[in-house]
Order: sequence, then structure tokens, then C-alpha cells
Amino acid sequence: MVNYKDLGLVNTREMFAKAVEGGYAIPAFNFNTMEQMQAIVQAAVETKSPVIMQVSKGARNYANATILRYMAQGAVEYAKELGCENPQIVLHLDHGDSFEICKDCIDSGFSSVMIDGSHLPYDENVALTKKVVDYAHQFDVTVEGELGVLAGVEDEVVAAESHYTKPEEVEDFVSKTGCDSLAISIGTSHGAHKFTPEQCTLVNGVLVPPPLAFDVLAEIEKKLPGFPIVLHGSSSVPQDEVATINKYGGQLKAAIGIPEEQLRQASKSAVCKINIDSDSRLAMTAAVRKVFAESPAEFDPRKYLGPARDNMKKMYEHKIINVLGSDNKL
Ligand SMILES: [Zn+2]
Repeated sequence: MVNYKDLGLVNTREMFAKAVEGGYAIPAFNFNTMEQMQAIVQAAVETKSPVIMQVSKGARNYANATILRYMAQGAVEYAKELGCENPQIVLHLDHGDSFEICKDCIDSGFSSVMIDGSHLPYDENVALTKKVVDYAHQFDVTVEGELGVLAGVEDEVVAAESHYTKPEEVEDFVSKTGCDSLAISIGTSHGAHKFTPEQCTLVNGVLVPPPLAFDVLAEIEKKLPGFPIVLHGSSSVPQDEVATINKYGGQLKAAIGIPEEQLRQASKSAVCKINIDSDSRLAMTAAVRKVFAESPAEFDPRKYLGPARDNMKKMYEHKIINVLGSDNKL
């Protein structure tokens, strides 16, 4: 049994309260590799931003949960080494799908967990979420619940179509479960192909997806004033990265994300955690493909993972400063 506090990590409670109050959102970046972890920490330290490092089931399968936990512990020490006296880093389980997986993470040093019962009937979602909350709160670990279903593919979370969160359910869900934040569905989705071209309108040669359901978000905020809201599936799928990937041999077709302007707008509301995963994958892949194409004789992993790390860091900083507004909040 390891408590996250002994690792120098923090939970989300104070972080979210400040973000809701201050009208900005905390970045939640997924990580699987050392380079992603380093880029996240470098970006957070240089911009003086709190940050959530999150681990999906796919990441646990790929990198091993124990290694990821030590990497998060290393992230805190690395941030200090880079000159940040008081790093605000959360280690969060993304899309926990059972009580056991949440308990396992809490017991091994995670400071925050998500229990995703959104695919279950409402009452079962309530019961499962409450069970996780009751366990987590004994150790001051914060819990994210979810209502509504997002479309798309995220590691092992798959849903064919989305269902917006029903504003009439949120108050009951939060009061019955005691969860600390709530992931909602208002039109974001997982993966790099969030919309088909047919769903978009062509504006000045750019495919613009349908807007997020800000009316649903407003209804939810009215029911839960000041309560922390979370947006999943919020990569923007930068078209310059997609172009680089395709220029150097990639075949990404019709990769479309959430316009940053919409995320900027959402950040100013009670949305205080925005999940970004695909954009990091795109930044990494673009940089690696470029090195492979331009220097085909290169075989030192540091020569392509290094530029990949730099490109991810640039992307993380851009999100923090220009989209979420979490810079200078330490
Ligand atoms: Zn998600």
C-alpha cells in the first residue's frame, strides 16, 4: 500500500476548485512512454501549469502499471530538478472499468481515478461509482464519474455512437455517488477521426465539425453550480501534424478533431479538466516519420525519439498557454 502523498503527487480537489473559480482548465495528458512523460513535465514546468498525467487501460497493458507509477514519481522529482519548487502533478487512472482496477491503482499510489460506468444502466453506474468513491475517499483520492456516452475508440473503450449527458440526471448522480468531478458527453469523441467529412461544413477549404452542445453544458452547470466538469476526447487533431505525417509516407485520412476555439470557450466554464491524447500521438508520429524520411540511415532511437519529445512538448505548451489557460497557475 503506497499513498500518493508520499510520492509528492496531489489529488484534483484544490486544483479543480481553483480552475473553476479562475475560468481555466487543467490539461490531462495520457502517457505511455518516458518521452511523453518528460515532454509533459517540461511543458508544465516551463509554463508553471498544474498537470494531470493519466494512464489508460491500454497504457497499463503496454507499459506495466508499476512502471507507470514509478514514472509519475519520477515526474515529480524531475519537475523539482527543472526548478519547480512545488509541482502540482496528479497521477490519474483514465477509464477505470471495475472497482478492482480502481482499488489497485489507489493502493499503488494513484492520486485520482476515473470509474467509467457510463455504459451501465443508470442505477448500476451509481452503485459502482459510489463503491469506488467510498474506498477512494478513505485515502483522500479523488474520483471522476461519467454520465453519457462518447463515440469513438480510445484504447479499449469503444462506442459506435454518442449519447449526450442528460442534465436532469447529473444532480442525482453526484449527490448519490459523492464523486468529485463528472465527465460529460456534449459532442467530443475519442480518437483522431472524431467526425466524418459528411458531418462537417467546408469553410475556406477547411472541414469544420459541428459545434459542441454548449446548451447541454449550460444546463448541467445550472444543475451543479461550480461543480468540476470533465471533457474527454478533446484532441484538436492539428492539420499541420496530419499533413507532415502524410507527406512522409503516412496515410491518415479525414482526421478531424475539436476546434481549439471551442475548447477555449469550454475552459472558461465549469469544465476544468480537458483530456488530450491523440494530439500527442500525432505530434510524436509526425516527428518520427520526418526523421525516418529525411535521414533513412539513422538508427539511433534517441535521434528520432528526441525530436518526437520536442514536438510533443511544443504541442503541450501550446495547449496550456493558448487553449486551456492553465499557465502561471502554480
Ligand atoms: Zn476518455
